[in-house]
Amino acid sequence: SFWSSSCASSNKERTLAIVKPDGLLGNYTDDIKKTIIEYGFSIAEEKLVQLDEDNVRRFYAEHSSKSFFSNLVTYMTSGPVLVMVLEKESAIADWRALMGPTDANKAKATHPHSIRAMCGRDMEKNCVHGSDSPKSAQREISFFFGEVSTDKVTEHDEL
Ligand code: GDP
Ligand code: MG
Repeated sequence: SFWSSSCASSNKERTLAIVKPDGLLGNYTDDIKKTIIEYGFSIAEEKLVQLDEDNVRRFYAEHSSKSFFSNLVTYMTSGPVLVMVLEKESAIADWRALMGPTDANKAKATHPHSIRAMCGRDMEKNCVHGSDSPKSAQREISFFFGEVSTDKVTEHDEL
């Protein structure tokens, strides 16, 4: 229609991206943000936060029964993370594609230009997070940026 083709903002979608502790520690943040912009996303919101165990348990609740869950909690609380809301057409799928597969070793082998290939290390330390569906994008964005949130996380002004 006229409106969906000419009113670009109506096609925009939002997704939640996180630069995980290994990404910040490895100083990959600038390269990741540069890549994000190059690929046509805009960064609508961003903040640096230190997650605690309770934050991570709730954020990753879908994985609570997995064998790797306690390792995931330790990993995600090991240092600050940069949380961003990315915006563009098809932001959810396009950010997942740009991140590459969950296993960074697979990413290096099969998706060498992906972000996880660039800065991830293995199945766990894979540098970045991205929402996997419209429903999870909505939940994850309000987890960090909702006006009335019980999921408050501690903000960091600097590293
Ligand atoms: P994602 O959506 O690609 O991030 O992957 P998942 O939602 O399946 O898993 C969430 C996060 O848990 C991953 O990004 C990894 O950091 C971690 N993870 C997933 N699978 C494993 C695993 O088999 N072992 C370990 N140690 N960590 C994992
Ligand atoms: Mg996931």
